[in-house]
Amino acid sequence: MQDHIRKLLVELGEDPDREGLRRTPVRVEKALRFLTSGYDANIDEVLNDALFSVDYSEMVIVKDIDFYSLCEHHLLPFFGKCHVAYIPSTRVIGLSKIPRLVDVFSRRLQVQERLTNQIADTIREKVAPVGVAVVMEATHLCMSMRGVEKQNSFAVTSAMLGAFRSNARTRMEFLELIKLRSAVPGVDTSAANLACVGDD
Ligand SMILES: [Zn+2]
Repeated sequence: MQDHIRKLLVELGEDPDREGLRRTPVRVEKALRFLTSGYDANIDEVLNDALFSVDYSEMVIVKDIDFYSLCEHHLLPFFGKCHVAYIPSTRVIGLSKIPRLVDVFSRRLQVQERLTNQIADTIREKVAPVGVAVVMEATHLCMSMRGVEKQNSFAVTSAMLGAFRSNARTRMEFLELIKLRSAVPGVDTSAANLACVGDD
């Protein structure tokens, strides 16, 4: 990989031998390996020993989980907040495991829509809840740095499964509890639901 990064620096018109860039290929490889380390994670190991049988059927919410990912179209970061809720049926998952799940799927080349669905689908599979909801709000550097659309726009994606899909009141309760920025008057949401596009 370092060889490729060196060539990339040359293609960019840089001198890979100048002092500031000499160790850049090493650093970039290390950074990219970490930022894509989610491919190697085993979900069952991540969740190991953190599924508990309980008699609890109220909504569980973990909100404002910071996440950082890389868009697969431009290899540029997109990052923001993730909000997760589920309604247990017979099992709950250790609360600290939810941010871990978000990390595992964020540390891959992603599109925001798929990332959102993967988190929701995994919780549905492993916890078998009555319903699960995931909302992600993110700034995409491929949009803001390149001056595409409005520079301060952010994309909102959601996955609503089970009771969150079938029951409008449950869904509203969740959305009210996470108080989406996009629901705040005066915030322009015209770019919402539009993550980066891969054709430019
Ligand atoms: Zn992009």
